[in-house]
Amino acid sequence: MTAERSSLRRCFLAAVCLLLIAAAGAMLAACSDASSLPSPDLPVPVYDLDLNYDGERTVALSEELVFTPSEALADIRLHLYPNAFSEGSATPPCAEEERDAVFYNGESFGGIAVLSVEKDGKTADFDISEDGGILIVNCVASAGETVRLRIESEITLPECNARFGVSESAVNLTAFYPSLCFRQDGAWRTDAYSPFGDPFLSDISSFYVTVTAPERFTAAASGGILSSTLLGERRVTKISAENVRDFALFLSPDFKKVSAFADAGDGRVAVDYRYFDDPDPSGTVRLAVSAIETFSELFGAYPYPSFTLVQTHIGAAGMEYGALAAVGADVRDRETFRFTVVHETAHQWWFGVVGSDQILHPWQDEGLTEFSAAWYFLLTGDAAAYDAAVSDARAYLARYTSLPAEIGFDDTLDRPLSSFLTAGEYTAVAYCKGMLFFHALRVSMGDAALSEALADYYTSCAFTVASPADLALALQGSSTP
Ligand SMILES: [Zn+2]
Repeated sequence: MTAERSSLRRCFLAAVCLLLIAAAGAMLAACSDASSLPSPDLPVPVYDLDLNYDGERTVALSEELVFTPSEALADIRLHLYPNAFSEGSATPPCAEEERDAVFYNGESFGGIAVLSVEKDGKTADFDISEDGGILIVNCVASAGETVRLRIESEITLPECNARFGVSESAVNLTAFYPSLCFRQDGAWRTDAYSPFGDPFLSDISSFYVTVTAPERFTAAASGGILSSTLLGERRVTKISAENVRDFALFLSPDFKKVSAFADAGDGRVAVDYRYFDDPDPSGTVRLAVSAIETFSELFGAYPYPSFTLVQTHIGAAGMEYGALAAVGADVRDRETFRFTVVHETAHQWWFGVVGSDQILHPWQDEGLTEFSAAWYFLLTGDAAAYDAAVSDARAYLARYTSLPAEIGFDDTLDRPLSSFLTAGEYTAVAYCKGMLFFHALRVSMGDAALSEALADYYTSCAFTVASPADLALALQGSSTP
């Protein structure tokens, strides 16, 4: 395949892709006909997290997790993602060539040590998987039983510019808590960490969080900050984030804040931007507001009362979390910065509310999110930005598709994260080819029909983990399985 294709050929390819996707794969979680935003249909897992941060590299974490399994469990498994940052990790958090930039202060390690586990108030036996990535609680549970786990742990933060660690600008606490593995086909999904891509898969959950830290640290977090009070020289911050895909927390003595409100159709959304170095913070928060309002109109209302945008060194241009997006502190080019803000905001629709399997089908949210960001600029009067995004994606993908055949580049769109050898190859396929797929759909369907189909996808698959088949069904004008 070459990058230069006629529009007719693009439409044909899009149609072929749709048929393949519709035929492929089992449904992960059936989307409903018309779930109403914003509440999930079923009770969600509830995490009560109590963090005590020493201001250096240690966090004592007390977690209570309450959930109701829909099927009998022979054991209970939770991810321990911080252990990807431990010495000798089999799944290091970044590629070898990125280590110097990520570990800005030289080699540094971190992880999470589980100290004790209780189930329903009684001490529970537990094991840690050989690679350190999974906590296995050796307790059975019945279908419909309310399971109450209490997990005491100690987190060691590495010094690094990554999702987890003390970065050059903030303490990045994402994927830091023991998190319930995803159930699929009667088994736990225990996928390992990955040096690139987003190796996370989770059900919608609610979080009630208390953070105690030295007074100088203020928080940017998923959800709403309910209170921030001083207790001696310690600041106690209470946070609530309900019905979100995951919970992220950033602490810094240097955060400045600018706020605004977005009209998301169903209500007002408080938009907070926490930053430390931005030449135009008001412009940045206005951009996030505009993106929320545009996507709410295009796909369906943003369902949460707040959205937080945070600037930090995170080892990527940006990163998405429940009701929060991070934008990389080293993104200096203003156009790239603006595109990143809109891309990460679009993830609230494609990742946050409508989940997908980022490990087996990463194009499903990255391709759609990259396209949504470009589409935002087109719809708000910047056709040049849309055209540039399309031509950049074509050029980036062409670097790989033009490689000699003997190298064996696989340009299959729907392939798992583990099949990619490099971050560049992943970007070329999941982002660029994925984005071009939706661009081709837009050319063939028109803006109105595509918006209607994606609004149907959003409404029918809200708060589930949607399969490629669910997406294909919505694009074909039907949400009936
Ligand atoms: Zn993304």
